[in-house]
Amino acid sequence: MTLTILYSADGWNTWETPLRRALDATGLAYELVTDAAPETVDYVVYAPSSGLHDFTPFTRAKAVLSLWAGVEKIVGNKTLTMPLTRMVDPGLTEGMTEWVTGHVLRHHLGMDAQIHGLKGAWRQDYPPLARDRRVTVLGLGALGADAARALAALNFDVAGWSRSPKEIAGITTFTGEDGLEAALARAEILVLLLPLTGGTENLLNARRLACLPRGAMIVNPGRGPLIDDEALLAALDEGRVGHATLDVFRVEPLPRDHPFWLHPGVTVTPHIASETRPATAATVIAENVRRGEAGEPFLHLVDRGQGY
Ligand code: NAP
Repeated sequence: MTLTILYSADGWNTWETPLRRALDATGLAYELVTDAAPETVDYVVYAPSSGLHDFTPFTRAKAVLSLWAGVEKIVGNKTLTMPLTRMVDPGLTEGMTEWVTGHVLRHHLGMDAQIHGLKGAWRQDYPPLARDRRVTVLGLGALGADAARALAALNFDVAGWSRSPKEIAGITTFTGEDGLEAALARAEILVLLLPLTGGTENLLNARRLACLPRGAMIVNPGRGPLIDDEALLAALDEGRVGHATLDVFRVEPLPRDHPFWLHPGVTVTPHIASETRPATAATVIAENVRRGEAGEPFLHLVDRGQGY
């Protein structure tokens, strides 16, 4: 008997059916509940928005299985002493790649000029082919690598940057500080898909923004604090950065008086780039419960030392 408890603000209605279906498929005897004495729980299926902060009472929990890809809100939680897994969900990845590809194409094709109207000026600005457009993706994990592959499949000239060296067919890859500067220097369009950690906070500061080609477009569905807001606003005002499409912010919801809302060089989207899809993510959760019961290593285990 495995008791799995769900802590998600999205709630029982969204998750119960797909989780039961996926847990049934494992053949395990289980109980899935939203409320139980913590000391009886084997697996905590958890979303940071649920409001659960103290894991101390979960004395026999074998793992906390996060429904979110980003774990910055929970990775430093001292009461969370059991293994912590993050969400790598095919549906989440698919949605992110669609969002990234759409925003990259928007900037590549210069669609804003047409959407906002040419105001009577018959100006034929032909976009270059994707093969002549350099895109850099910072972060080549589950989401970044998929987006980079999709952009390369559209013929974009794609580079990526990650902590550990990567070999991805059709992508030029970089690591380290020198590699970051080289990756930024070629980024006509820059996509941020890094996790928020001590090593990535304010990564895009004034010095690194200055490495970008003049007029570079930034697309950030990673996390808000990856970018120094003040440095970005200064770079936009000086025309060094052409546009920033931001899905994530230091404070969410983005405060109504934040300059990003009205800045002509900023597109704000309200943290909707992608989300965990219960239909596909439930299988990932159930597989980790199965692994826990079989004594096999968990998938997508968070490295507490690295913070992601
Ligand atoms: P992931 O699989 O853990 O990939 C993270 C990537 O970042 C890896 O390639 C990693 O390098 C690299 N990285 C981490 N720290 C680094 C550092 N200090 N220097 C250089 N590279 C570094 O994560 P993911 O699933 O792709 O998700 C990425 C992030 O997307 C999440 O953490 C979350 O913040 C964000 N997200 C946003 C939304 C949204 O709707 N806006 C939805 C889901 C996720 P290695 O490969 O060498 O480890």
